[in-house]
Amino acid sequence: MSTGHPRRTRLQTFIADHPYCCFCGGSVQATTIDHVPPKACFPRGYWPSGFEFPACKTCNEGSAKYDQVFGLYSLILDFDESQEKREGALKRINQLISGVANNVPEALPPVWNALPVYKVGNILSPRAAAYSISTPQPLKDATRVIARKLVHALYYREVQRCLASCHKFTFGVYQPQRGGTENLTTYLNSLLPSNTTGVKPNIKNYGDRFRYSWGFKEDRDFFMFAAQFGHGLMVWCMSVGPGQSTPEGIMRWTHCGRGSLDGSKGADD
Ligand SMILES: [Zn+2]
Repeated sequence: MSTGHPRRTRLQTFIADHPYCCFCGGSVQATTIDHVPPKACFPRGYWPSGFEFPACKTCNEGSAKYDQVFGLYSLILDFDESQEKREGALKRINQLISGVANNVPEALPPVWNALPVYKVGNILSPRAAAYSISTPQPLKDATRVIARKLVHALYYREVQRCLASCHKFTFGVYQPQRGGTENLTTYLNSLLPSNTTGVKPNIKNYGDRFRYSWGFKEDRDFFMFAAQFGHGLMVWCMSVGPGQSTPEGIMRWTHCGRGSLDGSKGADD
């Protein structure tokens, strides 16, 4: 039965609960729902539930081409080839290849440089055949944008406030299959006390598609996470509050804030 009030859309309800864009300092009105990790990192219908964030139009649309590039690589570098995800993943990869070929052709994997892994000798892969490819600059650019979105989104999700322009953060991305990274993975896992796993309640055999470990220390406003896409790319990031630093002080910090998502203000490369 109607209550007499105009029915609010899902977007209006969401914005009422989350009024400010969580990607540009928490002072700009949110007008859209953004998806982080991007939908492009998953086969259609397999994006994990609940990773929706309030965004202004600029922050939401500004990352579209980076979403495609990062999504493509996160899927082709996912070494988990369980039967239930293969078909959807291949379909998505082909879609993304077409999209990237149109929008950022220089970001396509340089397959002519690909080397069978037995010649590279330092990738630990469960596949019978795996390839090592060099990293094109557009992938580095996309990774920087997606890592920035991830730290803003996951901080918002777990700490329940916005990273502000006086916060500083730094991040790294690696392929855990590469020999020599095992210690880093073990170290990150030992540091971070909490785990969150992306799920999709209506898909029974959802598999390992997105998960992250994280920790937060209120006194320094120190937040850290390590997020893994399937069994492939690992993105880690840490942020500290105003005037704080990590005990080691060795990180090169990047100030976040308005306009930082396009990578133009970064000092992290
Ligand atoms: Zn914004």
